[in-house]
Amino acid sequence: QIDVFTLGETMVLFQPDQMSPLDSVHYFPKKIGGAESNVAIGLSRLGHSVGWFSKLGEDPFGSYIYKTIRGEGVDVSTCRFTSKAPTGLLFKEQLSPEDMNVYYYRNGSAASMMAPSELDETYLSRAKILHVTGITPALSETCFETVMKAIEIAEQHDMTIVFDPNLRLKLWSEERAKDVLNEIASHAHIMLPGLDEAQFMTGKESVEEVAESLSDGDKTVIVKLGPKGAYIHSGNEAYYVDGFPVERVVDPVGAGDGFAAGVMSGLLREESLETVVRRANAIGAMVVGMKGDIEGLPRMEEVNKYMAPSQDQRD
Ligand code: ATP
Repeated sequence: QIDVFTLGETMVLFQPDQMSPLDSVHYFPKKIGGAESNVAIGLSRLGHSVGWFSKLGEDPFGSYIYKTIRGEGVDVSTCRFTSKAPTGLLFKEQLSPEDMNVYYYRNGSAASMMAPSELDETYLSRAKILHVTGITPALSETCFETVMKAIEIAEQHDMTIVFDPNLRLKLWSEERAKDVLNEIASHAHIMLPGLDEAQFMTGKESVEEVAESLSDGDKTVIVKLGPKGAYIHSGNEAYYVDGFPVERVVDPVGAGDGFAAGVMSGLLREESLETVVRRANAIGAMVVGMKGDIEGLPRMEEVNKYMAPSQDQRD
């Protein structure tokens, strides 16, 4: 049995160390970038067993991604390779700590060719949680179908479905995004939207309203609120859970993925929702304090240590 199964595209990420426009950058350190593999790595570091499914190009970049994710202890045994399409690439341009542009070279990538028939149903059904994002269904029609097939399998096996909308309007139209995100939401047990995503999906404004609307009566909705932490709406309960103060935000990206890993880790440990979200907030805060999407993802001892001072304050 595995704890979590996730699927999605991981690209090679070229992110210069310097803050400047990309046309004047000469050196590009090579890393990996992909929301679902970030989450998988986050969970693995927190001590969980995770399976990550994707399709990579039969090229040096595909092999680099495969080895990197495997090296983090994530099970990549169901991942596929193809010679028909290249591994996707991504460049990040940081102009200031808060101002980041992303350039994708992923159209027609190997991952966009993933198909429902390539999912290993027996393997997937052995997981306790299925994690899906709104990025994968935006990549292609077959990717959308693959996500829906994964959801169908999860439902047949009474797995918990955790959905992070991860809205990427560079990948699809607003209309299609809204339809598909709401369709996936209707199958999810737990949703982890950012406030802007929740507003986009519901057409409502306030944190309380969007959460109520997305909960649709029986879903647990956890709205991510950046430095303010998060807001939980579950059953008859609804409350804010404060974030952890961060003196200097080094890289705002990836906090949401660390948060998702923290939430699922807590659920697997059967902790109370408030405890789950407190730790997820701590992980999000740790991630924004470090450059890169995965560099800041902590091990369990590290989060516990990070959270300890505020524990003392409460005593
Ligand atoms: P991403 O940029 O990765 O897509 P997101 O938009 O999904 O992130 P955020 O609300 O930015 O989600 O961050 C997720 C969580 O990380 C927050 O709910 C919070 O717990 C923590 N976090 C993010 N930014 C900060 C910050 N500046 N200070 C403290 N905690 C933060």
